[in-house]
Amino acid sequence: MTATRAFAAQSATTPLTHFTINRREPGPKDVKIAIEYCGVCHSDLHTVRGEWSGTKYPCVPGHEIVGKVVAVGPGVSKFKVGDRVGVGCMVDSCGECESCKAGLEQYCYPGNVGTYNGHDKHSGGHTFGGYSTAITVTEHFVLSIPDALPMNAAAPLLCAGITLYSPLKHWHAGPGKRVGIIGLGGLGHMGVKLARAMGAHVVMITTSPEKAADAQKLGAHEVILSTDKAQMKAASKTLDLLMNTVSATHDYNAYQRLLRIDGAQVLLGVPPTDMPPPAVGRFIGNRLTLAGSTIGGIAETQEMLDFCATHNIVSDIEMIRMDQVNDAYERMLKGDVKYRFVIDMATLAA
Ligand SMILES: [Zn+2]
Ligand SMILES: [Zn+2]
Repeated sequence: MTATRAFAAQSATTPLTHFTINRREPGPKDVKIAIEYCGVCHSDLHTVRGEWSGTKYPCVPGHEIVGKVVAVGPGVSKFKVGDRVGVGCMVDSCGECESCKAGLEQYCYPGNVGTYNGHDKHSGGHTFGGYSTAITVTEHFVLSIPDALPMNAAAPLLCAGITLYSPLKHWHAGPGKRVGIIGLGGLGHMGVKLARAMGAHVVMITTSPEKAADAQKLGAHEVILSTDKAQMKAASKTLDLLMNTVSATHDYNAYQRLLRIDGAQVLLGVPPTDMPPPAVGRFIGNRLTLAGSTIGGIAETQEMLDFCATHNIVSDIEMIRMDQVNDAYERMLKGDVKYRFVIDMATLAA
């Protein structure tokens, strides 16, 4: 075990502060990574503050991790010391169930092991995430960061990026498809870039008039103000697919009217409280689908990183020091970030 610097919350109501964790020495199939950058995801905040049940403290969040390999176990074949690598939302899964065998580790039947707040098979305790200077991960869950991608702006691809890439692929976003992205934040801005690169006609749906110009800069062909009843009515039955990235409790039913026959709305954000029930009449009247999706499998995450390298896609980021993370959470709650905070982990090591 190696004592490793980290930033942790000791309870739901205390800010994150310095904390020391133990990281295991690499086992035969393990890769040890010196973390350079870690993105700040809304899930970090929900978990740290106990807004989803089951947070274990001390809590070290962070699942948009990039860095360099500093050690590998003797059985590791995919990575060597010095490689640019990333770790997303999972660090393990059963490896044997139908989902795992299909490369859908995120839907592992017994449950995948979260990068933080998961059950750590090695220590017997819970897992600690990327707000730390190093992490040891089994090689199957380590991704290669293509040379064409800057390390810091690539970090958010590992959660925000794959969270949009996977459902866009699954529901066949591409040429001839009209895709609505609901909400312009960390997830939404990735959705605009990815759907555009896939060749779809991209429509940003937002409550904020001031976000319209930003959405177009990011690649949206059109913007619909969801607070404007006339615009919503005019856009009725014009879209094939809706990616709903809103993570606050809201009435997603209002967007169903935008879908054509056989359209699908995919829920991607996880609000802290219950959502309203589906307006069933609208679904059955237009053969609509209401769906959900979470991140993507490991092979698909690598495919997404390679796709982003080919299409020059990264996240728009604002770099912060480790000790600015509590303020960053407050700003994130106000939507005051374009569009992802990324922590420079050198500021924790110093
Ligand atoms: Zn996340
Ligand atoms: Zn499994």
